[in-house]
Amino acid sequence: MIHNQEDSVSELKKLSDEELIGRAKKFAKKYCVGEGKNFKLKNFSTIPKMNLGPEDKPLVKEALEQGVSALSTLQEILYAQDKWSLLVIIQAMDAAGKDGAIKHVMSGVNPQGCHVTSFKAPSAEELDHDFLWRCNRALPERGRIGIFNRSYYEEVLVVRVHEAILHNQKLPPQLITKKIWEERLEDIRNYEKYLDRNGTKVIKIFLHVSKEEQKRRFIERIDQQDKNWKFNSGDIKERNHWDNYMRSYEEMIRKTSTKKSPWYVVPADNKSYARIAIAAAMIKALDEMNLAYPTLAPEEMAKLMEMKEVLLQEK
Ligand code: ATP
Ligand code: MG
Repeated sequence: MIHNQEDSVSELKKLSDEELIGRAKKFAKKYCVGEGKNFKLKNFSTIPKMNLGPEDKPLVKEALEQGVSALSTLQEILYAQDKWSLLVIIQAMDAAGKDGAIKHVMSGVNPQGCHVTSFKAPSAEELDHDFLWRCNRALPERGRIGIFNRSYYEEVLVVRVHEAILHNQKLPPQLITKKIWEERLEDIRNYEKYLDRNGTKVIKIFLHVSKEEQKRRFIERIDQQDKNWKFNSGDIKERNHWDNYMRSYEEMIRKTSTKKSPWYVVPADNKSYARIAIAAAMIKALDEMNLAYPTLAPEEMAKLMEMKEVLLQEK
């Protein structure tokens, strides 16, 4: 993990796994909100604390590769131990880089041990249930990493910004009161506490992109033919609600960021840097589980040795 521009690729290569994890944790802390009570979005920038230019590309590349490799080592132990699971929730405005981040950060991880779920507008079947239902079904099993590309947090974001959606949710009308957002935030907070108490660690990433950078990326999607497919005319409409979204994000983070299930507000105007920050947050969460390979009881070990003997005697 990079700390400042004075770091060099060769220096990074020399780090032991332990040093790398230590650095990743320090790096992640910069963007970790922790207890959200006093959270203000304006205190978090969309640009990295470090001033990274094109000349820093090799350094950034090396840092991400190292992060992914540490992640892969920790994931193997998570899988072998088969007790904890990690849920990483990613929320962001359009074009903030969710898809690319998931692709790059998970690139070195054993696909058997992780699962990505993308949540779009709910289907008729999903609307026939409470809002946590579809997410609950997609939770990672023990020993696995689950990534939610959008999540139940949309219920206090897009649904809050466009109240018409709320009225189409088939809720009993007397439950739709002024307090509904407060209630949903409280339900989410309690749900994540419940998950944590059952061995699913939840971390939440807000890819914090600026309105100017979103504009630049939208124009790029229009100008570059191979990016046209990513452009959705509806995204422009959402952009017009920017301030309203930011207010909703701020309150959401204030009410649902806790020590155990923190939000990370990751500067996302630089995509590579954001990916390193996500890897770092995941490394921090996994390291805090104090993972260890399961060890065998002496009798079981003795049995293994017997079996080895049988194999060696085979003709
Ligand atoms: P991309 O980067 O490919 O655009 P995306 O996550 O924006 O990825 P889309 O298919 O464009 O994917 O958008 C999914 C849409 O579904 C978003 O606009 C999101 O707000 C909406 N959505 C997700 N959950 C809900 C929900 N519970 N209620 C209403 N809309 C939702
Ligand atoms: Mg979209």
